[in-house]
Amino acid sequence: MSDTIEKVKCLIIGSGPAGYTAAIYASRANMEPVLYQGEQPGGQLTTTNDVENFPGYPDGITGPEMMIQLQKQAERFGTDVRNGWITKVDFSGDVHKVWVNDEKEIHASTIIISTGASAKYLGLPSEQKYLQLGGGVSACAVCDGFFYRNQEVVIVGAGDSACEEAHYLSNLCKKVTMLVRRDEFRASKIMEARVRNTENIEILLNTETVEVLGDGQVVTGVRAKNKVSGEVFDIPATGFFVAIGHKPNTDIFKEYLDLDETGYIINAVPGTSKTNVEGVFVSGDAADHVYRQAVTAAGTGCMAALDAERYLAAKEADFEISTSTYN
Ligand code: NDP
Repeated sequence: MSDTIEKVKCLIIGSGPAGYTAAIYASRANMEPVLYQGEQPGGQLTTTNDVENFPGYPDGITGPEMMIQLQKQAERFGTDVRNGWITKVDFSGDVHKVWVNDEKEIHASTIIISTGASAKYLGLPSEQKYLQLGGGVSACAVCDGFFYRNQEVVIVGAGDSACEEAHYLSNLCKKVTMLVRRDEFRASKIMEARVRNTENIEILLNTETVEVLGDGQVVTGVRAKNKVSGEVFDIPATGFFVAIGHKPNTDIFKEYLDLDETGYIINAVPGTSKTNVEGVFVSGDAADHVYRQAVTAAGTGCMAALDAERYLAAKEADFEISTSTYN
């Protein structure tokens, strides 16, 4: 075994609300957690402006500020927060092996995966520009819809998420225009029927987004194209919502963990954070395609730390019994 291998009791991968909450609980339980932040320290919330739906912040808080506070809280109890990207894992043996930046090797007794999911975007330069500016592009209607009360918005996508989000927005906004790239929905019939039966949702089939229009600071509309007629037209809007799916950040685990067809980690025991590999736990959006909220991620982060702590305690008790029997 090389000298460079580090042994840790609890390794947390990911620095969103799930990872930091797991870290707060694990460090308070003397598990001396080491947390690797990943490529986007703070996770998806660092791309949001105001978070108004996390309990305990009556005046709201910005996403980046909230993540700084969560990090401080985790560090206060001793979490070792590090920069680094986990590039490879090996969960085939009793010891869980992890490599950081293809170099450093860590052996962990427990691992909490909190790698999250990334919203997919269209990739248009104008979309990315207003996303970076925080000027009206969002991939989360529940997070940001409130800011567009009584305004007109556009949403792109035709799956269950798009339907759910369009319906959510229709309760807040004056008008929701839904851009569907094919001549049919991907969503379940019941979800499609719900948007079709909502008066202030206008559905444009065979329609693609050409450009997100703006004044340099905020979104003012969307340029769209009917793929059948070729007509290009502008839709006035102050918000542009993208609901074309999420990609869970779980590629490096697929050789060892049970994933669903989209790549979400499957909980081996429903209602817990356990995966199919003993000692490996999951929290947050990496296993959740349904709720995807900061507060639910934080809740499952707490579950994962408690599950990991109980797993370690049971292993230590087993070890004590087996050594006393041997003696
Ligand atoms: P999906 O992959 O199901 O749907 C993505 C949608 O986005 C499709 O309509 C797709 O179009 C469209 N799309 C993809 N790329 C583009 C693009 N570049 N331009 C325009 N449109 C695009 O993702 P969801 O997030 O909707 O759902 C993921 C999973 O989660 C599904 O299994 C879904 O059933 C489930 N879910 C369940 C919910 C519930 O039960 N309450 C709520 C939300 C999600 P196209 O159809 O042409 O490919």
